[in-house]
Amino acid sequence: LSIEERLGFNKYNVDDGKPHIILNKEICAKCIKKPCTMVCPAALYTEENGELKFDYAGCLECGTCRVICPCPGAIKWDYPQGSFGINFRYG
Ligand code: SF4
Repeated sequence: LSIEERLGFNKYNVDDGKPHIILNKEICAKCIKKPCTMVCPAALYTEENGELKFDYAGCLECGTCRVICPCPGAIKWDYPQGSFGINFRYG
């Protein structure tokens, strides 16, 4: 199975309008390497014309972006509240 097919097994209960990961765009704009675009297993971080784009809806809650980010204060990271977030079908 491809990565996309494997990710398709997951179910997401997205907390619309209340992202559990919030980026500081000013800090992110100064980051040269943007390692988050290389490590997110769900490919939620992308770069378009030098600008960082992010969509929290497909987050796997792995925490990799929080650990790898070299810019203090760039990522405010929490788990989704209550029953929101990812539901892994196969654990
Ligand atoms: Fe991607 Fe994991 Fe960060 Fe979610 S926690 S945005 S899946 S790297």
